[in-house]
Amino acid sequence: MDNATRLQYLEAMGIDVWVPRADNLLAPSIIAEPTDSWGVLQAEVVPCTRCNLCNTRTQTVFGSGNKNADWMIVGEAPGKNEDRQGLPFVGKAGQLLTEMLRAIDLDREQVFITNVVKCRPPDNREPKPIEVETCKTYLLRQHALIKPKIILALGHVAAQALLNTDESIAELRGKIHTLNDTPVVVTYHPAHLLRSLLNKRKAWADLKFAMQIIRNHQR
Ligand code: URA
Repeated sequence: MDNATRLQYLEAMGIDVWVPRADNLLAPSIIAEPTDSWGVLQAEVVPCTRCNLCNTRTQTVFGSGNKNADWMIVGEAPGKNEDRQGLPFVGKAGQLLTEMLRAIDLDREQVFITNVVKCRPPDNREPKPIEVETCKTYLLRQHALIKPKIILALGHVAAQALLNTDESIAELRGKIHTLNDTPVVVTYHPAHLLRSLLNKRKAWADLKFAMQIIRNHQR
């Protein structure tokens, strides 16, 4: 029995499982199988029942944008609006994300936007480690199919899931991390930025940092 299946059984039994990061068997090296494709992946994600979030969601939110994008943008989980519309970042935080992208001359159709967890957690609570772990294979398969030049991780849930770490945003910002050779830049979640003017300036610095990495990569 694989680790994800074992964790699902434990969760079904009502046992809250703590998932040690170092023991994370699914991360970080899922490379796209030659047989994987967007069609195959989407057909698995849309009806997914691998964790309990399937019981409360309206629909899965796969992600949207350019499947050959240079930029892959990863958030936490769908909220109420995303759950209704089936698209990521369509609420207030999404509007701010659109503006942040515009500030670096990108529109939403140029990048690929998705979340660590593809279903809305009830009452917008933070996804549980078991939910992150179970859903992360989808994220890693999306990454392997897109082969972006850079990943922008929005907020601690995305950053910690992608980098397999417990470190805080403050510790992770301003450094070039990697996921299977793709540079990963960490910044604040737009929902947090809606509440913190001070960190908006830092987020702008993070975006400029990410642009610089892409530029150096293209030389
Ligand atoms: N917050 C997220 O992390 N993702 C969304 O899609 C919307 C809000």
